[in-house]
Amino acid sequence: MHQEMYLKNAAEIKKVREVAEQMVKQVEVVGNENEKLCSEIKTIAKNKSSVTQQQKSYANVLKMSDNTQTTREVPEFKKRTPIIVKPKAKQTSEKTKQDLNNKINPYHLKITDIKAGQNGVMVIDSIDESEREKIKEIMDKQMSDKYEIKIPRDYKPRLFITDMHFEKNSDELIECLKNQNKCLEQGEIKVIKQYSVKNNTKTYYNAIVEVDECMFTSVMKLDKLNIGWERCRFYDGVNVTTCFKCKGYNHKATDCKSEEVCSKCLGKHKTTECNETPKNKCINCIKANEKLNLGLDENHLCNSRDCPVYLKHLSAKKHRLGY
Ligand SMILES: [Zn+2]
Ligand SMILES: [Zn+2]
Ligand SMILES: [Zn+2]
Repeated sequence: MHQEMYLKNAAEIKKVREVAEQMVKQVEVVGNENEKLCSEIKTIAKNKSSVTQQQKSYANVLKMSDNTQTTREVPEFKKRTPIIVKPKAKQTSEKTKQDLNNKINPYHLKITDIKAGQNGVMVIDSIDESEREKIKEIMDKQMSDKYEIKIPRDYKPRLFITDMHFEKNSDELIECLKNQNKCLEQGEIKVIKQYSVKNNTKTYYNAIVEVDECMFTSVMKLDKLNIGWERCRFYDGVNVTTCFKCKGYNHKATDCKSEEVCSKCLGKHKTTECNETPKNKCINCIKANEKLNLGLDENHLCNSRDCPVYLKHLSAKKHRLGY
């Protein structure tokens, strides 16, 4: 299995390099107008090709992400081909592992990763789509009485765009993105959602758009996007569930077992009932520092999209989604 993993990694590095080289060529053809972008893409290509089997520990991911103020980490878009093995009854992942062990011999299956999820769910990665089909067929035959064997929906990268002060319909937004941002010129953009946000006196607009992997990689190297007469902030569009009560991640307030945390002063009351001066401190980073002594910068708002703890949960969620 180790060898398999290594091969997969080498093939991926090659693929990423090829894509990046192709992108560099495309940009060079477009002209020298955007030399900066060109050199940025070259850097990705260089970095990616020299990346070996670097292990990203929890602490490392957090620390790496902490530098995102100036140079944001380009999220990986590598395509995975996962299978989800979901028990029909409530059980532990130990039980699921036991059943797998008893029912399926993995000797000739090209499996690259196995991870336990919640409630006995296992996520199994294989080397490619045809191998996945093969494994799914075996699992359907051997285990479908007690398990649902699912292939997750194919996810494309998304961008969350904010700070827009002028309302646009989907076509107008796509036109702006394509005509005003070199790296979004080619490829398909789909608007998933647009909505307005009222903030004291102002109204502004947010959008979630779907792009392809190449566009996503190059766009994430930029600080802002040009949209009409504005420069707008944007983030990775995959979202992590945030609790309104404790400001923690991956659960909702209705399921929350923690204490209320005010996002302004971090006191034990609702944010809407706060009379204190706002502190600009992040409860999640404070907790992570206390627990793991990571030395993270705590000076940002709770649930900021640049929060290193948020980014860590984001990368975990993306892994679950299959990329
Ligand atoms: Zn909570
Ligand atoms: Zn407060
Ligand atoms: Zn934080």
